[in-house]
Amino acid sequence: MSMAHIKSDLLAALQDLEIIDCHEHLGPESERLAQPVDALNLFGHYTRTDLATAGMPNLEFERMHDKSLPLDYRWGLLQPYLPQIRYGSYARAAYIAARELYGFDDISDETYEALSAAMQEKNVPGVYRWILRDKCKIRCSLTQGGNDYGDGDLLLPVMRVLHVPVVHTWEAVQSNARCFGATVNTLDDYVAAFEQYVATRKREEGMVGLKIMAQPFPAPDRTAAVEGWELLRDGQDIPAGDAHPLHPWLPTGHLHPLHTWLLDRLLEIAARQELIVATHSGLWGDFRRLEAGHMIPFFERHPNTRFDLYHLSFPQVHEAVVIGKNFANVWLNLCWTHIMSPTLAREGMREILDLVPVNKVFAFGGDYMSRAVDKVIGHLRMAQEDVAEVLAERIEAGLMNEEQALTVAKKWFWDNPVEAYRLEL
Ligand SMILES: [Zn+2]
Repeated sequence: MSMAHIKSDLLAALQDLEIIDCHEHLGPESERLAQPVDALNLFGHYTRTDLATAGMPNLEFERMHDKSLPLDYRWGLLQPYLPQIRYGSYARAAYIAARELYGFDDISDETYEALSAAMQEKNVPGVYRWILRDKCKIRCSLTQGGNDYGDGDLLLPVMRVLHVPVVHTWEAVQSNARCFGATVNTLDDYVAAFEQYVATRKREEGMVGLKIMAQPFPAPDRTAAVEGWELLRDGQDIPAGDAHPLHPWLPTGHLHPLHTWLLDRLLEIAARQELIVATHSGLWGDFRRLEAGHMIPFFERHPNTRFDLYHLSFPQVHEAVVIGKNFANVWLNLCWTHIMSPTLAREGMREILDLVPVNKVFAFGGDYMSRAVDKVIGHLRMAQEDVAEVLAERIEAGLMNEEQALTVAKKWFWDNPVEAYRLEL
């Protein structure tokens, strides 16, 4: 059988698999329904970076998404930049979504109005289930979208917690403590209150994990950590850094041994509470700060904590794959990776097949916000193509047969996240 034939057979089989979507930023469906939608929704979120890099001013991007302005005016803002970004893989997910969900083969001057009407018509209660369950065959999405999920079995919460160890002011400590529902004076109070909070969220909301970001933390030093805490309590700040112009949530501030000490406690709590620690690595802004390699000392100090390493430390893919090989407590998650670059995602998966046991990989996470939920199907189709391609190569080389390839794919899309996240489905 030809390589093209093997691949198309595999792809058809993959598109039939029920899957776990291993990372989203989807808030409750009500958040999506609260806003009108149109074709320009497909050019928000990740494509923002491509549009900005292509030359679109921030103010124009914001106007493009200001629904109080007429659609034709907003489409006109996109027009000069669309030819610059449309062949990139961020945009490709948008074109696939337009075709598979709404039946439009192109997003263009001729189609944007009708596509917008079709999107708005579908933006009714049930839109998440239609896209995620019916179209994508997603059993559940592991999501970081705020505190109110409201859809018990489709969206499973993962809580962002980097702001808990990385505090730069006493006000930030107190604001976190208020969120935990506690009064905090000592370091030990703070850690205990956080653990209580985590245990409650797990019990009451079915939270399945905590989310942090790879950062260049200094070496652990308890004496320096206590000094840092007292500094904050005395009203002094640890320098917080300037916000990134496009991604203001990116951590840029100085990292102090206090932060390392608190993160070590957080990772112990995760192990005790049986929660996996999703760890962002790569791509945004000064990506050197986000490399997975910064986390190696934490992987070593916390062998009983499970880490879900996101995004293959893009573009440091080789580094992430070797981490996946060397650390029993780390799983590799290709969320976001297929839309960053199918080329590099495939390279990464070829190396993963060489180096990493097949039970340690999660093949897909859409990584979208609710206003761009449509693009989950675009990303998924790209992920399925990537997996079909690399497995078909192995079949053609005589290294596995089709049944074995499908077994690997099923582990990557379903078995591994179910086991690692201890999902009860
Ligand atoms: Zn994400």
